[in-house]
Amino acid sequence: MNLLFRLIFLVCALSVSIGQIHASLRAGAASSNITPHLGIALDGTISINGPAVEVHDELHARCLVLDDGEQRLAIVVCDNTMIDRSILDRAKQLVEERCGLPANRILISATHSHAAPRVVPGLHSNPLNHDYETFLVRRIADGVQQAIANLSPAQIGWAQFDKPEFVHNRRWFIEEGSKLGNPFGKSGDQVKMNARGEGLVKPAGPVDPEVFILSVQHPDGRPMALLANYGTHYVGGYERGHISADYFGLFSKRMETLLGENDPRSDRPPFVAMMSNGTSGDVRSSDLGKSNPVAPWELMNIVAESIAKDVFSTYPDIKHREDASLDMTEAKHSLGVRKPSAKQIAWAERVWDNYQNNPDQKFGGSTNPIVYARETLALADYPDKREIILQAIRIGDLSIVSSPCETFAETGLAIKRRSPFKDTFTIELANGADGYLPTIEQHGYGGYETWPARSSLLEVTAERKIRSTLLDMLNQLKAEQ
Ligand SMILES: [Zn+2]
Repeated sequence: MNLLFRLIFLVCALSVSIGQIHASLRAGAASSNITPHLGIALDGTISINGPAVEVHDELHARCLVLDDGEQRLAIVVCDNTMIDRSILDRAKQLVEERCGLPANRILISATHSHAAPRVVPGLHSNPLNHDYETFLVRRIADGVQQAIANLSPAQIGWAQFDKPEFVHNRRWFIEEGSKLGNPFGKSGDQVKMNARGEGLVKPAGPVDPEVFILSVQHPDGRPMALLANYGTHYVGGYERGHISADYFGLFSKRMETLLGENDPRSDRPPFVAMMSNGTSGDVRSSDLGKSNPVAPWELMNIVAESIAKDVFSTYPDIKHREDASLDMTEAKHSLGVRKPSAKQIAWAERVWDNYQNNPDQKFGGSTNPIVYARETLALADYPDKREIILQAIRIGDLSIVSSPCETFAETGLAIKRRSPFKDTFTIELANGADGYLPTIEQHGYGGYETWPARSSLLEVTAERKIRSTLLDMLNQLKAEQ
């Protein structure tokens, strides 16, 4: 072989191997413990559930990093009720500084367990909640950094099946004549959340029964990570003050037992499973009309076990491939806040002053006027506009979009229907905590999810704008594919 021929051969061999590297997928997964200190206030100010006195099961930030040689992205699922954008931005910034992964290539969501902290600065006066914010930022960044360290050749596949047992619309129309009041002392609501007893007519919206599974394996078929997505709000049935990741965490642990080879003697990174919340702002896990198990933790175990069993039986049918390409896009969108009118502020001041003078009155609960008076006064101090983050990810011919809100099932279904991709799912409460997202029509029906509060603050047209922006982003990813 003369020298020139040898050189040509070498260059060709090199370019082929570079081409192969670019075409093949690498992935890494890691789980980072984010359990807070006991004593922290759990959940929010409307649903008061703290302080924490015991840990039923540990909380985690479960991280998956994918890399196709050209694009790298991270998906993180945290066992928190919700996490404010400011905290998530800090975590992304830390990842960017440490690992060079840009903030707009990182999706971080909360599961919406109600036995975990709601991480919104200023929401709780408990100093442990403030400490937890910094802890959480660091532990999320640690998880992503570890997942990047674990990057190795991988193959990816996905599948879905329906699981209607644990999705029930929780907003129901009430018979005409039934008196529905709201905490602002007004009547006219047609819909009630979690209504029981007489007068139930029909659900005010659909549910999405689909369980989506994204599976990542080592090239030899050993499981590396599994990201599931299902649209049920949470299960609950906690003991008061106990920390828990709800069914999201139990499902993940169960899958790790079923699929993982998490041998502590192994030098391989452990298999990581995670359950993200789909579009469940108006969806409960149990049927309103049926009586459910009453023992603490019972229903949560049933839900986790049942879904894990079905995922396990579907798993062998998933077709994995090593050449899935990746893409991701992010948009920042400014939306109006439903600020109270002068009349509403005057009402709130009256109710709040009365409470201050008579502090023995019951405080708390999702229909309590005192709670909504305080929420009205809090919203009065909010800026008029709120910038939210929307993301869309493409993995081969699968797409994932994010919503920072407690998004209704009908929005998720509409995105699935109109997506240019064969398969699409939405991860809610991602990259922020921007409250419930009723459609314009649902706003008209009224009910808890529509009442202005820090838990439902975006303008009435927010859902339409978010949905159409997400679909535009998907169309853009499709056009660039
Ligand atoms: Zn909620």
